[in-house]
Order: sequence, then structure tokens, then C-alpha cells
Amino acid sequence: DKVDNPYAGAQAYVNPIWSANAAAEPGGDAIADQPTGVWIDRRSAIYGNNSPTTGSMGIEDHLDEALAQGADVIQFVIYNLPGRDCAALASNGELKADEIGKYKTEYIDPIVDIMGQEKYADLRIVNVIEVDSLPNLVTNVSPRATATPNCDTMKANGNYEDGISYAVSELGALSNTYNYLDVGHHGWIGWTNDDPQYDNFHASAAQYGDLIGMNGMTADDVHGFITNTANFSVLEEPYWEVNQNVGGKPLNQNGDVKWVDWNAYNGEIDFATAFRDELIDNGFNSDIGMLIDTSRNGWGGDYRPTGPSTSTNPITFVDESRIDQRYNKGNWCNQAGAGLGERPTVAPEPGIDAYVWIKPPGESDGSSSAIPNDEGKGFDEMCDPDYQGNIRNGNNPSGARDNMPLSGHWSSEQFAELLENAYPPV
Ligand code: BGC
Repeated sequence: DKVDNPYAGAQAYVNPIWSANAAAEPGGDAIADQPTGVWIDRRSAIYGNNSPTTGSMGIEDHLDEALAQGADVIQFVIYNLPGRDCAALASNGELKADEIGKYKTEYIDPIVDIMGQEKYADLRIVNVIEVDSLPNLVTNVSPRATATPNCDTMKANGNYEDGISYAVSELGALSNTYNYLDVGHHGWIGWTNDDPQYDNFHASAAQYGDLIGMNGMTADDVHGFITNTANFSVLEEPYWEVNQNVGGKPLNQNGDVKWVDWNAYNGEIDFATAFRDELIDNGFNSDIGMLIDTSRNGWGGDYRPTGPSTSTNPITFVDESRIDQRYNKGNWCNQAGAGLGERPTVAPEPGIDAYVWIKPPGESDGSSSAIPNDEGKGFDEMCDPDYQGNIRNGNNPSGARDNMPLSGHWSSEQFAELLENAYPPV
């Protein structure tokens, strides 16, 4: 029988591969025993492929090791959709836009067979499902100005919905698995505008609700949802409210304040809490739980303000008061200045099952310049520190670190900065 919160009272699995990478860095010992996500980012990762990303361990190796550790809960990321990462290039995957058949029979089916073995019956296997996929079908498709050709293709062919509902239905049928679907973050989905052109919040929840019934997927197959996976959005801004009055009107009703830009939310706790209610309104169970990835949203460097700005200029006020130092919340690749966020924590807020580290700190989001590879990884300009941006980040500089390797590969320099800028401090 599934429990309400798989993290409650549970010892969490420590991935020995990430742990060894962390422990080998100066000061890394302090966090090397933290649980992180195990990303199954292509078919060969199911069995272990000796890649710099996943190392030699396959799913069965990790599950056996979890038993050996005496762990109760283990976290995987199911991440191999056809036409993956349609609005970006850094994590394009191995499956072409139309290879839904391979996704089902060569990726999901073998994973279900492995996780379903009797020897794992007492483990709680958390599966984070397909990061950054469905929100792209809402925000990055025509007729919106932010549309990309690849997202239009995936919207038209239906293979994201087909693949995700198949994965959720098949994995959800096992008695030891807990599906959490990725739902982006507040700086992406937090717009609640009445005009459908600008409403991401309601439209996204409806998009998830539409999955129910596809491929036999039921609401019971969904244990919850996760926000901020591999992103940098804060849990909350401690020194200001998004609807606070500065300079005569609320910050989120003032088009000059580009950091806010009419977004209704100021952080992941508020967003996850409200989006949970919206998902329930769209057919999901009333006892769903949320997860928030806090691996890199600490923002604890020397720049961190210690109180609100006294400026009466709304733009200056926000820029001097915010802890999130990005140029824009649309920036997602290897953000310079970021720090580790809250350590993994069980049931930190009502409706939130846990703060988790799904993105393993120190693993790149994408290379700073093009690097030939056989992993299907492209080069995305959002990872180039010199790139001046596009409509999806409000035409701002990318904010990315330089000299970064392919997505998923280790960066000692980024790891060191995350430790240095951790908040709470390590
Ligand atoms: C990469 C994966 C990697 C994961 C975790 C993703 O961006 O595409 O290969 O496993 O990040 O670092």
C-alpha cells in the first residue's frame, strides 16, 4: 500500500556516484551524504553506460544499493521523451520527435519490469516524470510569440502527452512507486492573466488534467507534482511581497517592473501551494503532495540583501530587495552566483511533501560553447555567457557561467560556487 508522504520517516538513498564526486571536492564532504536524483536520461542509462553523467550503475544497481544502504525512499528522474527539451537545445535527447514507440517499449517497459521486481516491494520509489515537457506545450507553441518549431511539432504530434500518460499509467500500476510530474516553476507558470495569450497558470493545470484517461492513466496514478526541477527560483523572497505597493501601485500591476512582469507569484512555496489547488480543481486527488527542488536556489553570496530597499522607485526597490540575482527568471542555464538551497527536508510546509535535490549540484545544465558528443546533447545559446537573450528571457543576458561542460557532466568550479554561496550556509 502506498503511504501519503513517501519521504515521511524515511531514510533517503544516497547516490554513491554523485556522493563520490562531491566528496572529492574541497569542502564537499559536508553535503556528500545528501540524497540526489538519479537521472535515467537515455535508454542505456537503464543498464549503466559508463557515461560521465550516470557512471556504471544501472537502475537495478541503484535499487540493490538502496537495499544495502537500508534506505526506504529512492528518487529517479524519468527523462527521455521523444523530441525532448523542445524549447532548448542543451538537453535534447536521443529519441526523435516521432519515436514514441521506442519510448514505450525500449524505455518505459524495461524500467517498469525492473522496478516491479519482488525484492524491491518494500522500497518507496519516487519517479520524477519528464522535466520541462508539458509546460512547453502551453507557453512555447503558436500562436504565442515565444513559440519554437520543435514545440509546435510536439504539440501537433501529441507524443509528449502520449508518452507521459503511458509512463504515469504503467509506473503508477506498481505498488511501490510514487509518480511526481514536473510542472516548471513560478517564474514560468506563475502568470494567472485572464487573457489566454498570457495565462500560463490555469492553462497548464488544464493541460495536466487532460492526461487523465489517456493510456489508462487515472488520478490515482499521480502521487503529486514537483516544481523548480533543475531551476534557480527561490522558495520565497524574504523582504518583499509581489503585490506590495511601491511608487503608487502594486509591483505586479506595473509593467515597468520587468522582474515581476505581472506574475502573481514571488517564489516556489506560494506557487506550489496555489498550483496544487488548481491541479485538484482539474481532476487530481485532494491528497496530492508537492515537491520543490532546492538544490540550487539558495542565493547566499555576498550580494544577498539583508533587508528591504528604502527606495520609492519600484524598479530600484525590487532590484535592491530581491535575493534571486538572475537577470530574468527565464534564465535557466548554469546561473553564475547561485548557491545551494535548503537541504532536503521532509514536510516543510502544508501540502509540500519535501524539499528535494533532484538536480545533482555540480552537474552542468549545458555547455558554454558547442561540444561534439554522442549523447544527443545540443548547444544552447542560453548557456553561453556572452549571449544577450531572446523573447523567452525578456532579451536579457544569459547569466550563465563560462567553461561549462555538456549537460549532466561535472563541473568542479560550479560545485565550489554552489557551496560558497549556499543558503542556509553549509
Ligand atoms: C541532462 C542529463 C543529466 C541531468 C542531471 C540534464 O540536463 O540532460 O543528462 O543527467 O541534467 O544532471
